[in-house]
Amino acid sequence: MVLPRTAKINDKNHLEIGGVDTVDLVEEFKTPLFVYDEEDIRSRCREYRANFKASDFSTEVIFAGKAFLSKAICKLIDEEGMSLDVSSGGELYLAKSASFPMKKVYMHGNNKTEKELNEAIDAGIGKIVVDSFDELDRLSRLAAAKGVVAEIFLRFTPGIKPSTHSYIQTGQIDSKFGFGLESGDAMRAIKKALELDSLRLVGAHIHIGSQIFNLQSFKKAIEVVLTFVKEASGTGDNVLRELNLGGGLGIKYESTDEISTISEYCKLIIDNVSKEAASHGLSFDKVMIEPGRSIVGNAGVTLYSVGTIKRLIGIRTYVSVDGGMTDNLRPMLYNAVYEGLIANKAKDLPKERITLAGKHCESGDILIKDISLPRLELGDIICTPATGAYGYVMANNYNRQPRPAVVMVKDGKTRTLIRRESYEDLIDLDV
Ligand code: PLP
Repeated sequence: MVLPRTAKINDKNHLEIGGVDTVDLVEEFKTPLFVYDEEDIRSRCREYRANFKASDFSTEVIFAGKAFLSKAICKLIDEEGMSLDVSSGGELYLAKSASFPMKKVYMHGNNKTEKELNEAIDAGIGKIVVDSFDELDRLSRLAAAKGVVAEIFLRFTPGIKPSTHSYIQTGQIDSKFGFGLESGDAMRAIKKALELDSLRLVGAHIHIGSQIFNLQSFKKAIEVVLTFVKEASGTGDNVLRELNLGGGLGIKYESTDEISTISEYCKLIIDNVSKEAASHGLSFDKVMIEPGRSIVGNAGVTLYSVGTIKRLIGIRTYVSVDGGMTDNLRPMLYNAVYEGLIANKAKDLPKERITLAGKHCESGDILIKDISLPRLELGDIICTPATGAYGYVMANNYNRQPRPAVVMVKDGKTRTLIRRESYEDLIDLDV
């Protein structure tokens, strides 16, 4: 369950994804290489769309592009009937260049620049999720100057701390994101937004964090935010007609991780919004969610080649590969834990305990600390599963390392989504 859904071991004892032998992929595309299983991504999109449905309000599933975005992914997301969230001018530019329908784009960010806001208005994007009082001022001024009315959501921080790494908790009171409910900022932001002629307040947005296993955190957030929406509406009509509950569903990085399924998560959201809305006498036109990791996370793997093996007797064996913190920052950033397997000896039994190291100039550049694998030799291909989300998008050029290629496989066929960076690309910006 950590590997992509179509993964299997073929009769050559090689890992196969989407009907393609990963050893052949490495021969053709070299390493490090990101491989995405198209069927896996599409099936998860369909699970979301099929399960996130309600009778009392319309629904929308918005893919959080920050998890992984490319032109082909924009196209796939559109084909699957989903909308897209972008959180920078760069992501917006990418979506535009992929001809993604701008009306289905939502824009996030806790410090959108004037340039980004102008680009969003000019592109005619669906809605901008406003994060601060400064942004309310800035956006209303820019929209007024262009003679348009910008549709907005206000992002609220409900004061919920889900159990996940502190760097990816976002809904707590002490947060750089959104307007706090407890401080009164959220109420003040609604009043202010309603007074600004060039803005039309459409709804409320929350996002409590990412990689959340316990669904009760989402339930609690719904209770808190709907209580607030009721308070904000007083005895009159609900001023926040749409409700965007963000993303955050946790995925399996290790086989032992206990996750909730997409359908369990969708059911919990729909049931609790319906229940809380009824108990407060509220109605909503639309409810949205913004999953990222749970759509692309398990669909992607990274393939590396083993370059050196250093056996420190009585201490540790370091197996170094040709990538590391430049293609997967998560172990360094969050102490994220991954599993691994040898793609060219997929069924062999574990023989030795090793530490999988990256090739970069930091002792902390470790991809997996202490993992049992079959006896390793130079040239073996290591696969780290579940690198499909927040992997390539966080890739960097430390040590002037070119970023890997990204390919997608389906029914025995491979297509390149993003080509490997070349040395020429690396110095292209130097003047
Ligand atoms: N929405 C917002 C505003 C986010 O910041 C994020 C991720 O941090 C997401 C959605 C997607 O979260 P996830 O990838 O955990 O589903």
